[in-house]
Amino acid sequence: MAHRAGPHFLQIPGPSNVPGRILRAIERPTIDHRGPEFQALAKDALAKIKPIFKTEQPVIIFPSSGTGAWEAALVNTLSPGDKVLMVETGQFATLWVELAKRIGLQPELIPGDWRRGVPPEVIEERLSKDKAHEIKAVCVVHNETSTGATSRIGDVRKAIDATGHPALFLVDSISGLGSADFRHDEWGVDVTISGSQKGLMLPPGISFNAVSKKAVEASKSAKMTRSYWDWSSQLGQNPSGNFPYTPATNLLYGLIEACDMMMDEGLENVFARHERHAEAARRAVRHWGLDIQCEDAREYSPVLTGVMMPDGHDADAVRKVILEKFNMSLGAGLGKVKGKMFRIGHLGDFNDLMLCGTLSGVEMGLRMAGVPIETGGVQAALDYLSGNA
Ligand SMILES: *Cc1c(COP(=O)(O)O)cnc(C)c1O
Repeated sequence: MAHRAGPHFLQIPGPSNVPGRILRAIERPTIDHRGPEFQALAKDALAKIKPIFKTEQPVIIFPSSGTGAWEAALVNTLSPGDKVLMVETGQFATLWVELAKRIGLQPELIPGDWRRGVPPEVIEERLSKDKAHEIKAVCVVHNETSTGATSRIGDVRKAIDATGHPALFLVDSISGLGSADFRHDEWGVDVTISGSQKGLMLPPGISFNAVSKKAVEASKSAKMTRSYWDWSSQLGQNPSGNFPYTPATNLLYGLIEACDMMMDEGLENVFARHERHAEAARRAVRHWGLDIQCEDAREYSPVLTGVMMPDGHDADAVRKVILEKFNMSLGAGLGKVKGKMFRIGHLGDFNDLMLCGTLSGVEMGLRMAGVPIETGGVQAALDYLSGNA
């Protein structure tokens, strides 16, 4: 491909842009992962990731994409044939259900229309009917990356508590962590699943399970077959700075850098920055006269905005124009909303002017693709950003 001047705009909701500081941290000779230098590195990484989850409990790091950490959460805590309650918030929730089925669990799926998060009252109603405690885990996605709806995890916890049901609470915050507020301990989450390439600003390649005492206890009697994903060997070796197999050493350098950057900015400031960019993006979308996919204002995602297309217009055609003309990648509609919407990622290492460039590209692309819009959405975003600088 011919050289294109200027940076590519990677505005998909993950993988996100990797800042130069992290790239430079990763660019080092790989070291002996059984030596003392590595042990210090591992201890540092394992300690620094905990406040990002807002936890004091162990966080296990796998050399895998997020999907591996989904599987790890299930195989360590459950037994073959166990019933798990899941909610169809979008494509990622759907993929997790498929994974659960393939490994021999029995997911019960609460259907959804892909325009909102997990309804806490529906969880409460279902669990209160499960008098025999057949449901062993409630599995939900925190930030549904395919739609732009963020579930109220604290309220889901309260709903579970209201029923006194003993089910484990497993939460996928693969795209939420580091961008949207997440509180593993306070919200009583038993396993939080995450990944490196979204809010954490790293390249793809490492994933996480933050585990509660209850989850570790459950893992001692859980009967699913597991080897690579087994927590016990990780939990046994991690305190001395060791891993049971070769870790993604260079990504651990990057992880430490990412944690330092987030703590430097202040975690709450990171979240506020994401909220502000999301609000500016929504103002642009509304001005264009297009629908925001998430229908519940309490669940608007700070990570991405899903934009619905008017009938008769193909979102993928708009994305194609924008990629060709402006060298910007936007997220495609996934699964059953393919072609019906596109996603603007505004997460990770991202600032006001990057958002302005992104929205400008979207506005121009919509016009060039012949989508009927009210022009001036970018101005609406600028007005908001300059009034809330
Ligand atoms: C990206 C993502 C996944 C899948 O993670 P991979 O790293 O692609 O395996 C799962 N759930 C959510 C919510 C995601 O955003």
